[in-house]
Amino acid sequence: GETIGILGGGQLGRMIAVAAAQLGYRCHVYAPEADSIAADVCAEFTCAAWDDAEAMARFAADCAVVTYEFENVPVGPLAALGDTPLLPHPRALETAQDRLSEKHFVSQLGGNPAPYAPVDSAADLAEAIAAIGVPGILKTRRDGYDGKGQWRIMTPADADGLDLPATPLVYEGFITFFAEFSVILCRGADGDIRYFDSAHNVHESGILALSTLPAPAALLEQVPAARELAAKVAQALDYVGVLTLEFFATQDGPVFNEMAPRVHNSGHWSIEGAVTSQFENHVRAICGLPLGGTGLAAKGVEMRNLIGDDAHDWPAILADPANHLHLYGKAAARPGRKMGHVTRLTLG
Ligand code: ATP
Ligand code: MG
Ligand code: MG
Repeated sequence: GETIGILGGGQLGRMIAVAAAQLGYRCHVYAPEADSIAADVCAEFTCAAWDDAEAMARFAADCAVVTYEFENVPVGPLAALGDTPLLPHPRALETAQDRLSEKHFVSQLGGNPAPYAPVDSAADLAEAIAAIGVPGILKTRRDGYDGKGQWRIMTPADADGLDLPATPLVYEGFITFFAEFSVILCRGADGDIRYFDSAHNVHESGILALSTLPAPAALLEQVPAARELAAKVAQALDYVGVLTLEFFATQDGPVFNEMAPRVHNSGHWSIEGAVTSQFENHVRAICGLPLGGTGLAAKGVEMRNLIGDDAHDWPAILADPANHLHLYGKAAARPGRKMGHVTRLTLG
């Protein structure tokens, strides 16, 4: 079959590759790290720096289409892909890899992010805290994930002791929410949009811990407005593939947190819990195929991340016939590192 190129070598790429294999495609991973867990399940692996134009061009020559599993791929070097299509379009990458441009972009489309201000110096931070107030969160504009590159500021004095990194930042007001959820949609090459059910997502220390479906009614009430915004984002970017927007459910309606131009951890439940998984629909979209149904395939679904080096009793997890165990094949557990997940279905 044809070859799909995947930029980035983590578990999301691995799960895209597994779905692609099921549809008869072969995959070629491009990543700078030698120990890629996506490459482990792919036919081809190019281990090279993002800005290695020669390696990137050879990779592109092997691929019918290229996608990404990681939103922090630098955009400039992707010119070396030449005529090989990159989907979703690089504009989605560009917008979503900078928290400031992302918030700005979504605001222009009518979205409602937490109050925010760019911070490039200690003086900017003092000004932002004066304008927005405390508590708040200072975040690096680029390269953050799983809550990395974030500082919680409870009182203005907290800012004094901070050793600010020499990188652009954004300060945002702390949102009081009763729940978190995401909108995960897939937009086909023909503009067809399918939405996955929105799970109730619980984060611990800035990392997704648990997604539960169906979500409580108070959360579900906020999904239509959130979907409307996500559709506007997808249309404005002429998006092809799976797109995720994260939201805080508040008494005043959904507040936009961030977007990810890719398949998402809060959609892992869809592998067994939806008619078609986010990974399969992403592959279908970037290959120009019709999309599969996104409805729930069970009465309820729960997805729990396996994080860090807690000892896990795999046989005990697997002894429960409702459980599905996914292990990502990472060699070393580190605190906060996502090692796998367990999906539990509630059948009728
Ligand atoms: P990832 O990309 O892995 O989802 P991230 O590093 O980009 O994570 P954020 O989504 O910005 O991090 O924040 C992680 C979590 O921290 C959020 O899901 C939420 O629980 C909390 N959080 C972040 N920003 C705010 C905010 N302004 N108000 C309240 N809670 C917040
Ligand atoms: Mg993020
Ligand atoms: Mg997030």
